[in-house]
Amino acid sequence: MLTANCNGLRVDAAISAKGAAYHCPSCGQPVTLRKGQIKIAHFAHKPPTDCSWAKGETAEHREAKIALRDAFRKMGYIADYEVEVLSIQGDRRADVVVTSPDGQRRWALEVQHTPILFPAIEARTKAYIAAQVPVLWMGILSRR
Ligand SMILES: [Zn+2]
Repeated sequence: MLTANCNGLRVDAAISAKGAAYHCPSCGQPVTLRKGQIKIAHFAHKPPTDCSWAKGETAEHREAKIALRDAFRKMGYIADYEVEVLSIQGDRRADVVVTSPDGQRRWALEVQHTPILFPAIEARTKAYIAAQVPVLWMGILSRR
């Protein structure tokens, strides 16, 4: 994941430094900042973990979230990744949330890089509908 909590504040891996105490926004467990020359900076749970936020995120998925956020920001939208969308159908962590420049409209982008079953797509979409946040699903292909 690209974000974590540090001293109660949301922080971005890209501008964080090693050595501080970071925690998962979902489960609250400590997470490690992975930052180097090759991989995109991100936070990782310490194994073993059963946190749903720790599962199955690929480098391509992280790259897509950053690229989408940056592309919408360049067009004048307010955009961020890994944003929690609260709803009565179950809280969702959107891959990217985009808000119109006037702040009146917002929508979520879900980037899917790994196989997902239809009931999961349906449940997540219902959560967005309950929160009155339109969602656009985007599939990405692997480079391999
Ligand atoms: Zn967690």
